Amino acid sequence: MAGGWASDDAVQEQIDSSIEDAVARARSQLPKGESLRHCEECDAVIPEARRQAIHGVRLCVNCQAEHDRENAAFTGYNRRGSKDSQLR
Ligand SMILES: [Zn+2]
Repeated sequence: MAGGWASDDAVQEQIDSSIEDAVARARSQLPKGESLRHCEECDAVIPEARRQAIHGVRLCVNCQAEHDRENAAFTGYNRRGSKDSQLR
């Protein structure tokens, strides 16, 4: 029956979209302390020990190091640099 198949598909589509909604809602409501299983940047597996040690960890060691370096270079170095130039 063609009609039967069509309505089955429609129901399946509704189920799919409601699952997607639920997943999206669950993701947006994640508590800050929830650690990710995979790195947000490169999708590498984050070791269980790291997830336990750092609550709410979102990056693998490599990406975290990269971010830390960028942050240090951007905020730390520039601030110190401008302070020095004011003093001299
Ligand atoms: Zn990574």
